[in-house]
Amino acid sequence: MTEPMCCYDPVTLTCPTCGHVALRLPTYRTCRPVPVPPPPPGPPGAGHFLKKLLGYVGIRPSADCGCTATASRMDRLGPDWCETPEGMAEILGVMKASHATLRVLLPWTESGARVAVHSACALARRAALAASTSG
Ligand SMILES: [Zn+2]
Repeated sequence: MTEPMCCYDPVTLTCPTCGHVALRLPTYRTCRPVPVPPPPPGPPGAGHFLKKLLGYVGIRPSADCGCTATASRMDRLGPDWCETPEGMAEILGVMKASHATLRVLLPWTESGARVAVHSACALARRAALAASTSG
């Protein structure tokens, strides 16, 4: 199998396929198109901020509690979902279950957890807004 060679534009000395710029012509070089980089990660979502907020009060998810999975679900579905009754019920359910298994100094309060989720949603909305206006 013969490898493709770069085919330089005689004016710009640039290979249109891989973007390599030759110093002089002719240049014989195996053309290796650069893979398209993945799209830049979006702004952090509500799950990210919720984990951060809980981290401030010393609550860190363990590897097998449902927190990390739920946090990425929150990131995917967005703050609007988190604040629906179903979303809030699901998140609070996971938080309560995890609270029981983690060594947390703070007592469980549903209203406290609810405030944390709403704060995380507000932070996620602000991050999304900042990302959309800056870019
Ligand atoms: Zn090339």
